[in-house]
Amino acid sequence: MNAAVRDAFNEQIKQELYSGYLYLSMSAHFDQENLPGFAHWMRLQAQEELGHGMRLFDYVLRRGAKVELRGIDAPQTDFGPPLSVVESVLEHERAVTGMIHRLFELSGQEGDWAAQQELQWFIAEQVEEEDSAATARDQVRMAGEDLSALLMLDQQFGSRVAEPEQA
Ligand code: MG
Repeated sequence: MNAAVRDAFNEQIKQELYSGYLYLSMSAHFDQENLPGFAHWMRLQAQEELGHGMRLFDYVLRRGAKVELRGIDAPQTDFGPPLSVVESVLEHERAVTGMIHRLFELSGQEGDWAAQQELQWFIAEQVEEEDSAATARDQVRMAGEDLSALLMLDQQFGSRVAEPEQA
């Protein structure tokens, strides 16, 4: 792994951990807003993001390159109504997709084909992340001002289970 690719992977480890931090903050927000199902869902998302960070961490180590952990920014703590939170999730996932694509591009420019192969997993994962965030956003939008619909969604999100780690 050359220095440019290594630095970019180290940066992405931070970004994945930041995503976990952001979703944990959203989880706390939902818990305080008496939406335990939404809180549970965001907690699962946070764990998934930590898993992404660890996957990159392990990959850098496997390549014999130096892991350099960077400072993680503090996530926001004030969020608006449920619809704006799920809109933020989708927006955030789209931004992460852009980061992964740029990392893939850089790996290609640097001739690091192995890194590109590892990143294929993340490219596919981002399609799933955006799809599930968009579905949640659409469902919350459909609930609109109907509180009973929102509570039904909360129950639905509360029954989600962690997805098994794919190879
Ligand atoms: Mg991620």
